[in-house]
Amino acid sequence: MQSVNEVQLKINDYNDTIFEWIPYYQIVDIKDLSNTIYLAKWKDGPLYWNGKVYTRNLENKAIILKYLVNAQNITNELLDEIIAYYNKVEVYGISQDPDTKYYIIIFNGDQYLENCCVCEKYYTNAKRKWCKPCQINWLKVNFTNWTSENKQINNIIQEVQLKINDYNDTIFEWIPYYQIVDIKDLNNTIYSAKWKDGPLYWNGKAYTRNLENKAVILKYLVNAQNELLDEITAYYNNLQIYGISQKPSTEDYIVVLNQEQYIKIFCNKCTNKYVNTEYKWCEACQKSYLKKKFTNWTSDNKQIDRLIQVMQLKINDVKDIIFEWIPYNQFSDIKEIGKGGFARVYSAKWKDGPLYWNKKKYTRDSNKTVALKCLNNSQNISNKFLNEVEAYSINNLNNTDNSGEILKIFGISQNPDTKDYIMVLQHARGGNFNNWLNNNYKNFNWSYKLKVLNNIINGLKEIHQKQYGIKWRS
Ligand SMILES: [Zn+2]
Ligand SMILES: [Zn+2]
Repeated sequence: MQSVNEVQLKINDYNDTIFEWIPYYQIVDIKDLSNTIYLAKWKDGPLYWNGKVYTRNLENKAIILKYLVNAQNITNELLDEIIAYYNKVEVYGISQDPDTKYYIIIFNGDQYLENCCVCEKYYTNAKRKWCKPCQINWLKVNFTNWTSENKQINNIIQEVQLKINDYNDTIFEWIPYYQIVDIKDLNNTIYSAKWKDGPLYWNGKAYTRNLENKAVILKYLVNAQNELLDEITAYYNNLQIYGISQKPSTEDYIVVLNQEQYIKIFCNKCTNKYVNTEYKWCEACQKSYLKKKFTNWTSDNKQIDRLIQVMQLKINDVKDIIFEWIPYNQFSDIKEIGKGGFARVYSAKWKDGPLYWNKKKYTRDSNKTVALKCLNNSQNISNKFLNEVEAYSINNLNNTDNSGEILKIFGISQNPDTKDYIMVLQHARGGNFNNWLNNNYKNFNWSYKLKVLNNIINGLKEIHQKQYGIKWRS
């Protein structure tokens, strides 16, 4: 058995608090918190250094008593237990119950209540007073208060419930069907609805409900009990899943999801995930929209129509260009800006301008300045023409740093007089890239030339990566 003095010496290595023997009569106002933890007051209070001497506040300091039941000796284990608390809670000392002879550890009461649950473990989340072991216990006790009347489903719900890790994790539940009201069909498998009582949330003391008619999304699993786990896993990382319900008339199981989160992530037309959630842009829906419009335009040439269709269906991002057939009468202010052996390049104004996605639909950026590249004698479509068109990029319309990028292509047009086909390109700084290079090269300073060369190499690399063996000439 060690004396309090020995303990005092060891403990004082760990903390500035003076560890003391606290006489039991100093402890008043004892209130039961659990079987071994009591809230109380220490009449004289702990010693503190006032700059000259140690003195006491005589303040009825709030303390926590931890009874060491059956520990009538101060052992090394006891010492370790005390030291272990020092991370978060000040330990003032030891006392002893005169009747039972049980030793009592005395803690700083405020600090203890801030950091420790009544189960005597540190809170998982001290700020929210949320203790994982206690809440897991509470959920387990509750297992008998609900049932889906299907053992497998019960097991799934229990398993997911016990995965909680913090106060704001969703408690996955069995939601009785009568709790779900105001059901509206969104498409065949997705419904919007309200959940009368709403989900459980942690209010700092207990789990409770808002009784708020919470907006939810119902996903019906038609005869698909086996798909249930896959469905839950698929959603689990993306949004809050409140639980499972079952429609009594059909016995179909229903996954109940947070509506607010759902509509941000999933397309409300086709239930696919948005490629771009900020812009609510769904690749599948936009491709089928473009496909439906294939009959609304034609170049009067099957090969060109086919090319435009292929280019349109290459989109996979909100900022991609919708490649189009652009009637020649859309262009005005046509000025020649470059001429080569095989082509002429013009700047022009495109009246309606290219399509862009405004978060709801495609609309046009009118009076856009573009470059028209007319290949000489291109009345007949050659593979060279087709390859060159495909080598231009439709990716990322909004990327305005044109210096090193392959030019973007908006579509194809045709000169009605000469019948020559025209590539409608992004109007780069200084005009068409090739033209710009030819006309201005002699004016460049050397470091700028190197930068331009580097950009050309990068551009060529991109072409080679796309496996088009295109040479840049005008
Ligand atoms: Zn606890
Ligand atoms: Zn969609």
